[in-house]
Amino acid sequence: MYIKCWGSRGSIPVSGEEYNIYGGDTTCMEIRTKGDRVIIIDAGSGIRRLGKQLVDEGRCDFDIIFTHAHWDHLLGFPFFRPLYTKKAELRIHGCPFAEQFVDSILGKVMSSPNFPVDFADVKASIQYEATCPEMFMVDSVRVEPIAISHPNQGNGYKFTEDGKTFVFITDNELGHIHGGGLPFDAYVEFSKGADLLFHDAEYTDEEYARYKGWGHSTWQCALDLAIRAGVGRFGLFHHNQDRTDREIDGIVDACRKAAAKRGTRLEIFAVKRDMTFNL
Ligand SMILES: [Zn+2]
Ligand SMILES: [Zn+2]
Repeated sequence: MYIKCWGSRGSIPVSGEEYNIYGGDTTCMEIRTKGDRVIIIDAGSGIRRLGKQLVDEGRCDFDIIFTHAHWDHLLGFPFFRPLYTKKAELRIHGCPFAEQFVDSILGKVMSSPNFPVDFADVKASIQYEATCPEMFMVDSVRVEPIAISHPNQGNGYKFTEDGKTFVFITDNELGHIHGGGLPFDAYVEFSKGADLLFHDAEYTDEEYARYKGWGHSTWQCALDLAIRAGVGRFGLFHHNQDRTDREIDGIVDACRKAAAKRGTRLEIFAVKRDMTFNL
């Protein structure tokens, strides 16, 4: 399984030299199966660059999986270049709500007077998965959702191929159970033994008092999850819009020190744009 990050920023895209290392695009991940099928997670602003690459490669067949409907995970969708090619086929997952996500982003955002291109100019064929299964396959990759603890709800996902596992849980508040969310231990159980875990780590403990209930975790809580789940590698995800590269480096340092104190050899990093992994 090949994995690439096209955007790991939270809430709103950012730009400027203080963001050059970790990048300013919002959530978009790409997974390629060993049979070379492309799975896309979320359509944050990072999907724009991914779409260009997929068109350059002449690809036209994709599975898109949405975590939830917040703008930062959808706003790149009208700029996903394959939408405007007739031969493109998109299968969209994310429970029945996914159809509403896509309708709202394409139908409402792409409407006059707010957007110059009409929804009718979308040429790709789009199919929606009508159900919300406990598990589904995309080629040789098994995909398992888990409900996130986040305002307006949504899912995290576990991707498994040939015994290797990637767990992707963003926009999940481990310190507070939102409607539809699960207790901390459920996320530990779900992530058990993952080779690679990306988890929301937007805040520090010091900041959290001000943002409790906003739907995001501290890096301290996310680290606790990674250690308890015994994952191999842990990537901090959904970087706050105001967090500079230097500040993110500082958080990674602090996180590594906290992990060392607990006697773990867990590999820790902050997820940056264009990072790739092979599991
Ligand atoms: Zn988000
Ligand atoms: Zn969100």
